Amino acid sequence: MTRDSRLRLNSRPVQPDAPGLADAAAHWRSAYVHIPFCASRCPYCDFAVVTLEEGGTDDTAERYVQAVIAEIAMEPAFGPIDAVNFGGGTPSRLTAEQLGRIVTVLDDRHGLATGAEISLEANPEDWTEQYGAAIVDVGFRRVSFGVQSFDPAVLAYLGRSHTPEQGEAAVRNAIDQFVTVNVDLIYGTPGESAASWEATVDRTLSLEPEHLSAYALTVEGGTALSRSIADGAPAPDPDDQADKYEHLVARAPEVRLVRYEVSNWCQPGHHCRYNLSIWAMGEFVGFGLGAHDHREGRRSHNVRRLDAYLDMVESGVRPRSGSEQLSAPEAERERVAIGLRLAAGVEAGKHGLRFLEGAEGQRHLAAGTLTKQGNRIVVERPLMTDAVARATLSVSP
Ligand code: SF4
Repeated sequence: MTRDSRLRLNSRPVQPDAPGLADAAAHWRSAYVHIPFCASRCPYCDFAVVTLEEGGTDDTAERYVQAVIAEIAMEPAFGPIDAVNFGGGTPSRLTAEQLGRIVTVLDDRHGLATGAEISLEANPEDWTEQYGAAIVDVGFRRVSFGVQSFDPAVLAYLGRSHTPEQGEAAVRNAIDQFVTVNVDLIYGTPGESAASWEATVDRTLSLEPEHLSAYALTVEGGTALSRSIADGAPAPDPDDQADKYEHLVARAPEVRLVRYEVSNWCQPGHHCRYNLSIWAMGEFVGFGLGAHDHREGRRSHNVRRLDAYLDMVESGVRPRSGSEQLSAPEAERERVAIGLRLAAGVEAGKHGLRFLEGAEGQRHLAAGTLTKQGNRIVVERPLMTDAVARATLSVSP
């Protein structure tokens, strides 16, 4: 399928920052499947990951696939599911056959909506054209590549094992196979010059991906990166990161990329249903190591140790490590805080109105950080989103 014919399939492409789309997403149901295997652990990563050294062999991967399938069967019927995201870890370390078995069980047990978005996170070094074709055959329509940067020095700092050429080749290959290809970037790594970031942006835009995500490097506690910074290595500089973010904001429209969330851009018609549903507080179920879910007002999360996960599922026990029931006012407060991430803003509701009437809301309105547009609150300075969200959470529900 050519790129033009794929775009024609979306004959009436939806603007990704349309308020109606954000509101519709609150009613979508989605599923997350965590595949924890990685060749090695990147120094900044705090995800639930199992490396080859820690026993993440092919045999373990097959045992894990069978456990995920068993866990999916433990979940009370949930569908129809509008979006499925395979995240990790590195889901592309599984074979297409293994991924296809999980998709089939999700459909058999819960039902996938017609045209459901089925998305895979992949590392460029694993990617081949044959693998892409095989996962299209088992139902995937979207792929997201952890490209991170096109600068070898930045990739080395981040502990990534692919080269810039592998990053580019993977995207070029996939772009003719998938409805939507996402490029994931990380900006503001210590040592990354402005010229390096601009070159990464140039090369990314030259590929014309349908979707782009870009996140500032953050230092999570307990990671090798946080330990080296504690030992005196340079930390990311928030001002440098802000400059790099603004550069991307200015450049992304060159290839029809519309910002629809603080850190996400897409061409019309290529919004990520899974992410939109999460930001709109839609219900989702999660399977696999450390997976979270949110269903009927209850949030739950799974254990993060592989041996505990496998033992529990193989004994017929749901591998939960905790859960909490949110009251309706608490859920409403969260809906506002999370929804502020969307360029379309969030319907204010009772909590949002109470926030706007208070001192913090008035201060942000006066400063122009946010505006009230009809019944919506819209953050006008995306880099201030976390500060505004914290302010909304500080108002009692
Ligand atoms: S590849 Fe991704 S999930 Fe795996 S260790 Fe690196 S950052 Fe973490």
